[in-house]
Amino acid sequence: AEVISVSGVEECMEIFAALSKDQIKPKFIEALACRGGCIGGPAMDNKLTLPVRKARLYHFTNAPEFKREEEKREVEVNLKRKHTASQFKEVTPTEEEIRKVLALTGKFTPEDETNCGGCGYSSCREKAEAVCRGLAELEMCIPYMKNKAQSFSNAVVESTDNGIIVVDKDLIIQEFNPAADRMFNLKERLARGCKLDKFINAANFRRAWKTQNACSCQKLYKKLNLITRQTIYPLAKYGVVIGIFTDVTAEERRKSKFDSMRQEALTRASKVIREQMQIAQEIAGLLGESTSETKATLLELIEIMQEQEGNGYDTQN
Ligand code: SF4
Repeated sequence: AEVISVSGVEECMEIFAALSKDQIKPKFIEALACRGGCIGGPAMDNKLTLPVRKARLYHFTNAPEFKREEEKREVEVNLKRKHTASQFKEVTPTEEEIRKVLALTGKFTPEDETNCGGCGYSSCREKAEAVCRGLAELEMCIPYMKNKAQSFSNAVVESTDNGIIVVDKDLIIQEFNPAADRMFNLKERLARGCKLDKFINAANFRRAWKTQNACSCQKLYKKLNLITRQTIYPLAKYGVVIGIFTDVTAEERRKSKFDSMRQEALTRASKVIREQMQIAQEIAGLLGESTSETKATLLELIEIMQEQEGNGYDTQN
């Protein structure tokens, strides 16, 4: 046959073996690594068997609507191509090179080689050989990439200064990071597996789960001498609520210290102004003039300076 179509890694290997032995001389080979072609590919995660999938595909492509769409899409395309044979020199990697590549993807012992086939090769070793030959990439190993992504996110969660607490829908603590432990002293109090209410007020977590809406606010934990800015949001898909806490105690303490200094300065300024105004009024009275305009301006100035922002946080135990 001039055109041969095969699918599945084994069939592909057989056809290439026959080709290299000159047993066949086709003009075109369609070699599909997945059994049955794309309908047997990794993205097809349903449980249907291959014959059922084929039957459905046949039914779909023979439907009149599909045919009409196909007719509309038909355009003249020149598929002529010229190919020049290029030399391919196969190198056989040494055992040491293969082991090195295996180690780079976290496979140090034969037990680490799970041979899951996720990369398209039937074994970890085969894939490592392909990497040595320049035919595959390290990143094609799915478990390796998954672990890499997980360890990155773990490193971020572990090292951030923001406290993170994860509870389930019954407000049982599932996880917390070191920053949350520092803020609420959770590890020492064996918090994992306990109700969050036992350690802090969990009203916002409860509300977030009930309404399925995120909420943000600032809270004062009096007993812990702690002020946090926090965002609580539900993750319905995983049945959990996540709280992210930023410790703003130092910032708030600075702000309130500044506020009391300002208040003190205002009180002193008011006293001085009152005394000075009294003297000025006495002098003006003697000269037959009025100081009412000056007084009004100074009082207005004091009023403006006295306008203060509230604390802006809730108080918690
Ligand atoms: S995806 Fe990774 S673990 Fe799975 S067979 Fe390929 S190299 Fe081995």
